[in-house]
Amino acid sequence: MNLPRVAVYGGSFDPITRGHLDIVERGAKIFDQVIVAVLVNLRKEPLFTVEERMDFIAQATSHLQNVTVDHFPGLLVDYMKEKNAGFIIRGLRAVSDFESELQLASMNRELDHEAETIFIPTHHEYSYLSSSIIKEIARHRGDVSRFVPAAVHAALLVKYADDSQDLC
Ligand code: ADP
Repeated sequence: MNLPRVAVYGGSFDPITRGHLDIVERGAKIFDQVIVAVLVNLRKEPLFTVEERMDFIAQATSHLQNVTVDHFPGLLVDYMKEKNAGFIIRGLRAVSDFESELQLASMNRELDHEAETIFIPTHHEYSYLSSSIIKEIARHRGDVSRFVPAAVHAALLVKYADDSQDLC
């Protein structure tokens, strides 16, 4: 019997965008199970808590039966062993992503020879999207509704509602 093909899509997802979601949906067609795992990085100060970020992802992926949401604090390869996952999903937006993503994939393979990274090229519609740019536009009250799931859009409106003093 073949073992289920389990993949982990890890990232900050602060917050999840439609670009991330596109990668999850396409990953879910390739693998038996996809775990979207929020990286808990204590060196970064995120806009949303890990729980909020997981909640946004869970809502946005509720239509996908083989997708689960989790978080992990340490090394991705250790987390993968815990979950019996053999694959790492990464999204590629532009050539500029390639260098750091290749470095990451090579390092992960060095740490665990079984860990296979699969790159999924972004849909051109989302190639310029990143969580940082979304936050920047939302902070200046730009309309990001078409770039993020509805719950994220609502949360961004609340987050930045009283922040006019931060805009200087
Ligand atoms: P990190 O902050 O750790 O890079 P992100 O949550 O920003 O994590 O990204 C996680 C993964 O999603 C990375 O592989 C990144 O290239 C990919 N990604 C981010 N934005 C997009 C997008 N718009 N389209 C496709 N892939 C994306």
